[in-house]
Amino acid sequence: MAISVSPIPGLPDHVNDVRRRTADFINNEILPRETELFVSRRGTTVTDEMKTAASAAREEVRQKVKAAGLWAPHLPAEYGGMGLDFLAHAYMNEILAYALGAASLFGVVAPNSGNQKILLKYGTEEQKRQWLLPLVEGTLQSGFSMTEPDVAGSDPRALRATATKDGDEWVLNGHKWFTSNGLEADFFIVMARAVEGDEEKGRMSQFIVPTDTPGVEIVRGIGIWGHHQSDHCEVKYTNVRIPAENILGHVGQGHEAAQERLGAGRVFHCMNSVGQMWRAFDLMVERSLSREVHGGLLKDQQMIQGFIADSYIDLQTARLLTIRAAEMIDRGDPRARTEISALKVYVPAAFHRVVDRAIQVWGAAGVSNDLPLAQMYLGARTLRLADGPDEVHRILIAKNIIHHYETGESWDFAT
Ligand SMILES: Cc1cc2nc3c(=O)[nH]c(=O)nc-3n(C[C@H](O)[C@H](O)[C@H](O)COP(=O)(O)OP(=O)(O)OC[C@H]3O[C@@H](n4cnc5c(N)ncnc54)[C@H](O)[C@@H]3O)c2cc1C
Repeated sequence: MAISVSPIPGLPDHVNDVRRRTADFINNEILPRETELFVSRRGTTVTDEMKTAASAAREEVRQKVKAAGLWAPHLPAEYGGMGLDFLAHAYMNEILAYALGAASLFGVVAPNSGNQKILLKYGTEEQKRQWLLPLVEGTLQSGFSMTEPDVAGSDPRALRATATKDGDEWVLNGHKWFTSNGLEADFFIVMARAVEGDEEKGRMSQFIVPTDTPGVEIVRGIGIWGHHQSDHCEVKYTNVRIPAENILGHVGQGHEAAQERLGAGRVFHCMNSVGQMWRAFDLMVERSLSREVHGGLLKDQQMIQGFIADSYIDLQTARLLTIRAAEMIDRGDPRARTEISALKVYVPAAFHRVVDRAIQVWGAAGVSNDLPLAQMYLGARTLRLADGPDEVHRILIAKNIIHHYETGESWDFAT
């Protein structure tokens, strides 16, 4: 199996070049070694020797990625990245996602990559030196700690965690959960209300909190999808004292920074979903060409042809919606917010449908660990919650559209 890529007419040469080079790398260096590189995913007995060999193989591939000039597409060149523009990065994501998990071999690992972006934009020179550089080099790990169990994560204004100014320190108190990468992280970027003086409510701000600070308690790695433990952690912060300079950006800038992190992230995640949809689609169609049922091939059964046609429509619609949003962001169009919400609702659901049909075509093998489909299926479902649930994005789309009608502002649907 290989991803097939040809130049897209009208795209800038550098974008087509990145697409081609990424596809060559995925086809030659990753797809033939998927089982070896990601051995733990296969669900067979995995010995310590196999894990050590997989880790060494992944490191070897990372070095090749660097040598091929494909490392860290989200970072500028001075931080060791490719310095890609937004559009090129989005197109690259579609291709590297064809191999499930390959992004990590290209230096793009959530939540580290999102944290790198906000440190780049909001960090002081000292914060960049202390936290960003080691994060890029891989000597530090991080998490993003915003969602709380006691209030709605989809309404960030409801957040209760506080950071109270005490002399030249902030004192953090709060209860978070689903802080991804929590078991590995050396520091968290924590969203809390900064309370200064006799302020009551405080203003939403972000703080860099080393995980070994007294008062930071990793309660558990929350079990998800039937697994006993994940690295999405419940974390309690009790009288956690951090230096005043650990605030990221200004007091009150936390919401803006979080939206910035999530907005671009949604486009990249959806382009990743599109890449995985291509993989599921290829698997489905190729299986239908060879699997015999009731004296004929699956491809000749009309219900299966319906799966293929509907999946093609889902895929192309998801892809065009995502590229359209990426193009709007690239040219700085403020209306991109509506488009980002539209793709955030549409793409995970379309991804879910396509993988569901691919699993059906494969029968029992579809849910086995021999294929990447089961993992894609869970990932697609999770995406309907993470980065904001569907309903919140639907509300935002409707609000923006209604606003245009009410104010009589021009609304060019074809833009
Ligand atoms: C695998 C995974 C990883 C995650 N990683 C992180 C992370 O690293 N850091 C972090 O901070 N968070 C993380 N999250 C949390 C995620 O951002 C939240 O789950 C999400 O924002 C939704 O918040 P909630 O779970 O509190 O749901 P709630 O806000 O309680 O919403 C529950 C449901 O209510 C409905 N709803 C909400 N608002 C409305 C409305 N206005 N109208 C109608 N219906 C509505 C929706 O159906 C929604 O699904 C992660 C979540 C998952 C599943």
